[in-house]
Amino acid sequence: MRVLVTGGTGMVGSAFARYEKSGAIRLGSKDFDLTNYVSCCNMIEQYRPDAIIHLAAKVGGVKGNTDLVGEFFRDNILMNTNILEASRVLKVEKVLSLLSTCIYPDKSAYPLTEEQIHLGPPHESNYGYAYAKRMIHIQSMAYRQQWGCNYIVAVPNNLYGKFDNFHTDYSHVVPAIIRKMHQAKIKGLNSVTLWGDGSPLREFTYSEDIADCLMLLLRDYNSERPINVGNSNEISIKSLAEKIREKIGFPGDIIWDINMPSGQFRKPSSSKKFKELYPDFGFTDLDIGIGSVCDWFEENYPNIRGI
Ligand code: NDP
Repeated sequence: MRVLVTGGTGMVGSAFARYEKSGAIRLGSKDFDLTNYVSCCNMIEQYRPDAIIHLAAKVGGVKGNTDLVGEFFRDNILMNTNILEASRVLKVEKVLSLLSTCIYPDKSAYPLTEEQIHLGPPHESNYGYAYAKRMIHIQSMAYRQQWGCNYIVAVPNNLYGKFDNFHTDYSHVVPAIIRKMHQAKIKGLNSVTLWGDGSPLREFTYSEDIADCLMLLLRDYNSERPINVGNSNEISIKSLAEKIREKIGFPGDIIWDINMPSGQFRKPSSSKKFKELYPDFGFTDLDIGIGSVCDWFEENYPNIRGI
C-alpha cells in the first residue's frame, strides 16, 4: 500500500521515517500548501497514494490556540476540507485523519469516550482548533454516507517526541519544560518557574507509538466512529517535570507559579476500544520516551524548531 503522510515534517510525521522503506511518503508545507485545493490535488496526482494519513495541522499549546485562534480555525478547516475533497475526487481508497482528546467537550463524563466528541462546546481556550478538528469527523462521516469513502478518524491524547516545536510561546507542555530546564542548566540558574501548581493529571503518548498505532488502524479499522488511541496512564505535571529535570540533569529548584493557570485538573481518555482491537500493543514507558527526547534535544540544541 502506497501511504502518503501529510504533516510528514512535523513531530508525529517524523516518526513515520521508519515506514519510508515500506513505501510511506512524508511531505510538509514546503512541498504542498494544503490550505490550497489545487495544491492538494497536485500532491495526490503526483504521488498517487492508495491511502493518506492526514497529520498536517496548525498545532500549539494554550497560548498558540488563544493568540492564533482565527488562524488555527481557518488553516485547519481549509486543510481538512481540501484533503478529504481532493481524496474523494481523485479516488484515494482510504484516509485516516487525526482529532485530539483536547477537542472533547469541556464538560464531559470521564473517561472520555468517543461518542462524547460532539456533545457540548470545547474548552474556550482552543475552540478554533477544536471545532475545525471536529469537522473532520463530520466530513468523513458524510463522505462515507453519500459516496462510500472509507475515511476514518483517530483521537490521540497528549503526544510528545523528537522534532516537536520548542517555541517559548507556542509549544506543548513537554517541549516547554525540556527547553526551560536545559536553558536553566546551561545558564547556571538556581531555579526554573513553571505555570500553575503542577497538580493536573495528563496522559502522554510517544510519537513513535502513535505512528505504529496509526499504521495498524489504517490496515484494520473501517468504521465511521472515531477511535481514541494512546497510552492512558495518567501522570501529574509535577511528576513529569521531575522526570525531565532528572533526565536533563538540572540541579536547581522548580518553582510553581500559582498565579498562572494550572489548566483542567484531568481529562482521562478511554482506550477500551483500541485495547479490544490490539490487546497486546505495548506503549513506550514514559521514562524511556522522555529520556530519548531529552537526549535528542541536547544533542541538537540549538538547531531545533522553535529555538
Ligand atoms: P507539528 O506542528 O509538529 O507538525 C505539523 C505539520 O503540519 C508539519 O509537517 C507542517 O509542515 C504541516 N503543515 C502545517 N501547515 C501546513 C500547510 N498549510 N500545508 C501543508 N502542511 C502543513 O504537529 P504534530 O506532529 O504535533 O501534530 C500532528 C497531528 O497530530 C495534528 O493533526 C494534530 O492535530 C494531531 N495531534 C497532536 C497532538 C500533540 O500533542 N502534538 C495531540 C493530539 C493530536 P511544515 O513543518 O513543513 O511547515
